[in-house]
Amino acid sequence: AKAGGRDRISVFDPSMYTAAVMEAEARTELERGLANDEFVVNYQPIVDLPSGKLVGVEALARWQHPERGLVAPDAFIAQAERTGLIVALGAHILRVACHEVARWQREIPGAENVRVSINLSARQFQEADLVDTVRAALTDSGIRPDLVVLEITESLLMQDVDATVVTLHELRDLGVRIAIDDFGTGYSSLSYLRRFPIDILKIDKAFIDGITLDSDDATLAEAVVGLGKALRLSTVAEGIEHIDQQEMLSDLGVTYGQGYLFARPGTADEIAAMVREHYGP
Ligand code: C2E
Ligand code: CA
Ligand code: CA
Ligand code: CA
Repeated sequence: AKAGGRDRISVFDPSMYTAAVMEAEARTELERGLANDEFVVNYQPIVDLPSGKLVGVEALARWQHPERGLVAPDAFIAQAERTGLIVALGAHILRVACHEVARWQREIPGAENVRVSINLSARQFQEADLVDTVRAALTDSGIRPDLVVLEITESLLMQDVDATVVTLHELRDLGVRIAIDDFGTGYSSLSYLRRFPIDILKIDKAFIDGITLDSDDATLAEAVVGLGKALRLSTVAEGIEHIDQQEMLSDLGVTYGQGYLFARPGTADEIAAMVREHYGP
């Protein structure tokens, strides 16, 4: 480290040591949680915007921790990514979500076309067997592949463009759809986007928040929606909390919406009940 103009080499930096120990402990904790089946999946409805009808759900990871209670993903996903455990955890979430939603499709009359969106981390894309993992989850659950949406972030697309294009085509060949998550927060240019086989743009909540309050925000949202239309993609607006946002986005031609206005994420049982209510007799 450089301090006060002098070059000093520290052989032992206690703070780095502490960080390494904490990282190792976090990894052990995550492994323990995974082995004890503490990671569960919550689901948040995705609705058709004009009508509000439930058309799908997004699978969201939760950690049912024996001491800490229900832990939100912001508190463990980044760590799981750093330690590489996201690969095993992501495969687990994928399996569980495909099985649970396939069961709703079978058991709830009218719900056979309900879709499930699953988040994939960039780290999972570095695994040579990602496509095999997805194929196995589809086959084992018996879910119709075209009802599965894999959500990936813009930053993932920018990492290794050629390899990512190949993998996305392989995934698409399985029959699944690809969504770009948190769209607008990254750096994708139009020309880049055209190279990737994608089906859906999920417009980040940051663009939705101010649309009814700020004309600049509204203009930006309109531009993002226009981009989706130009690329012939369907669009999902994230984080809709107010009815006037729903109306405005619907008028702009956004296909789908997701947010607390419609429903918060819930347990498999809670959301299955909601699906039943939506489709039931
Ligand atoms: P995301 O993929 O953008 O998921 C949407 C997040 O926005 C969820 O937070 C959801 O609960 C929240 N949300 C939805 N509607 C509203 C709303 O109207 N208002 C507000 N304030 N928030 C809303 P959650 O479940 O805490 O997940 C946070 C992030 O963690 C996700 O953001 C995703 O990036 C990551 N994540 C969750 N599950 C997984 C997973 O299985 N794998 C990976 N790789 N990442 C995951
Ligand atoms: Ca997502
Ligand atoms: Ca998102
Ligand atoms: Ca987000």
